[in-house]
Amino acid sequence: MTSDAPITVIGAGLAGSECAYQLARLGHRVILCEQKPQKRSPAHSSNAFAELVCSNSMRSDNPESAIGMLHAELRRVGSVILNSADANRVPAGDALAVEREGFSAEVTRQLSSSGRITIVPGEVTAIPDGDVVFATGPLTSEALTTALATFTGEKLYFYDAIAPIVAGDSVDMSIAFRASRYDKGDGADYLNLPLTKDEYLRFVQELCAGQKVTPHAFEEPKYFEGCLPVEVMAERGERVLSFGPMKPVGLTDPRTGRWPYAVVQLRMEDRAGTAWNLVGFQTRLTWPEQKRIFGMLPGLQNAEWVRMGQIHRNTFLDSPKLLERDLSMKAEPRLFFAGQITGVEGYVESTACGYLTALAVHARRTGTAFAPPPGTTALGALYRHVTGEAHPPGAPYQPTNVVYALFPPVEGRMKKPEKRQAYAARSRADFDAWAPSAPHPVLPAPAPLPLPAGPSPLVTQATSA
Ligand SMILES: Cc1cc2nc3c(=O)[nH]c(=O)nc-3n(C[C@H](O)[C@H](O)[C@H](O)COP(=O)(O)OP(=O)(O)OC[C@H]3O[C@@H](n4cnc5c(N)ncnc54)[C@H](O)[C@@H]3O)c2cc1C
Repeated sequence: MTSDAPITVIGAGLAGSECAYQLARLGHRVILCEQKPQKRSPAHSSNAFAELVCSNSMRSDNPESAIGMLHAELRRVGSVILNSADANRVPAGDALAVEREGFSAEVTRQLSSSGRITIVPGEVTAIPDGDVVFATGPLTSEALTTALATFTGEKLYFYDAIAPIVAGDSVDMSIAFRASRYDKGDGADYLNLPLTKDEYLRFVQELCAGQKVTPHAFEEPKYFEGCLPVEVMAERGERVLSFGPMKPVGLTDPRTGRWPYAVVQLRMEDRAGTAWNLVGFQTRLTWPEQKRIFGMLPGLQNAEWVRMGQIHRNTFLDSPKLLERDLSMKAEPRLFFAGQITGVEGYVESTACGYLTALAVHARRTGTAFAPPPGTTALGALYRHVTGEAHPPGAPYQPTNVVYALFPPVEGRMKKPEKRQAYAARSRADFDAWAPSAPHPVLPAPAPLPLPAGPSPLVTQATSA
């Protein structure tokens, strides 16, 4: 295989469109395979590329939020997705929301007119020859998933059961206590929230009565017994949770010297302990209900939620185990991965991963070093997630949006707004320092975009999703 052979990108969603565009811009020939219009996943309804399957919002554009930082960096590297989003922006407060048809049409136009991208419609059912980028998303077609599974074995997941994550500094430490069951490990790996019998029974009642999200037709709930939603366990019997994830045995509350009636365990989500996962609390409760019901737990009255729990069909790899640092597969290095299939979550994160993968493929093709932006930038923080650097050793790999917990922590005691400013300033400075090493021009940090004028926010859900 010569290095000027075309690179096959499978999937023209958010990640595949960005990856193909950037590869073409870097001088490579690309074959972009997209199953639409012949075949569509149950969540896709249009024939255009980069379809937004649900909300038309790319979330906050505030450059001091982690997602806003990611927007800014993608604009600076000339992202086709961000540029098309800006060109089709609609008023939505500080969110970057778009007119979805116009946005997808613009991405499709840019890719179709690139001159270096050959578009091949139709489902890919077997792994093509040569260098291949998989950007087939959370609903990768069944035939291709089967083909991929020959390389991944059990490290290719189909359901994403996500427990909520709470900001560490919003947990009431006058109630929570640090301990591991029977003092195993270093004896203080978990934060534990003790419940009395009354508190526990009230919590179980609320879980049973709480409003749940109705699954999509293609998400027929087939739960793994080891990974049941917390409310399903509650519905199976009053004591099921206290014998399951809320079991108190071996957890002595230092304030009483006894095991509580039940316990909620919080596991560290990042090495710095800025974010904590509610162990075993994967859930289909609606987000407002999660905030209300989990906010009743002792110690979580003032909880700030980094991420809410959810369960949905999601095809993703155990990337830290399966992928090399250049996002290619250890078992088959000509296969690269981009987007949600790597375990990032969301439109913009998938786009960002598509960009990073394009840099990695370009580095391989040109025999240069793959040098993604540093971990202190939003792009680099996502890369830290996919490579496993942002996670405590042994923690299960789970998809995530870009959040501050993925960044190396900013040192020093500061109030929250100052801390955000510090993250953003460090990120900008480190991105500026990285920019000259990028294989393409990087724009200077822009002045903030004016928010479009308009009456009410225009954020919608797609009718199909
Ligand atoms: C029901 C649902 C709702 C969601 N809601 C939101 C939301 O509101 N906000 C948000 O940020 N994120 C949301 N997400 C997540 C979002 O869809 C992803 O983050 C994002 O689209 C992933 O980008 P991607 O490029 O990895 O995959 P996709 O955008 O899904 O693109 C994958 C592409 O690959 C194609 N494809 C798949 N298999 C094959 C094959 N074998 N051959 C050829 N082509 C193939 C598909 O047709 C598709 O065009 C939602 C996901 C789902 C499933």
